[in-house]
Amino acid sequence: MDPKLPTAEHILAKILEEEFNVKVGICKFDDIGLLEVYSDVDLREVEIKFLEEKVNEVISRNLPVKKYILPREQAKKEVDLRKVPDKIQKIRIVDIQGFDKRPCKDEHVDNTSEIRKISIQSVERVGKDRYRFLFDVE
Ligand SMILES: [Zn+2]
Repeated sequence: MDPKLPTAEHILAKILEEEFNVKVGICKFDDIGLLEVYSDVDLREVEIKFLEEKVNEVISRNLPVKKYILPREQAKKEVDLRKVPDKIQKIRIVDIQGFDKRPCKDEHVDNTSEIRKISIQSVERVGKDRYRFLFDVE
């Protein structure tokens, strides 16, 4: 799997959280990336270009992406662990420095400059308040 996709996903997720107060659902990565979020705002009405520009602006800051493991007790002070099962006691944190920090076990790039650009291919409504983004990277 291309580590650019999960890294771009973190950036997109953060922007959606900040702009529209969404809750992140599932994500999947094959040839392209899939991210589902829960939102009160109809995200099909948001301009894709607006989101792409926001993500690409963060990518172009050339931010280092640090990964480290913390015991759960300590990790919970730094990140939201609601989606991490209780039995997992060693938490891997992915820190896009100065921008976003969240628990994740996938592989990510070491610097956002490696991604170059995101392109969002579609936004679909797949449930009452659930929206699915398909995206790719260059
Ligand atoms: Zn991740």
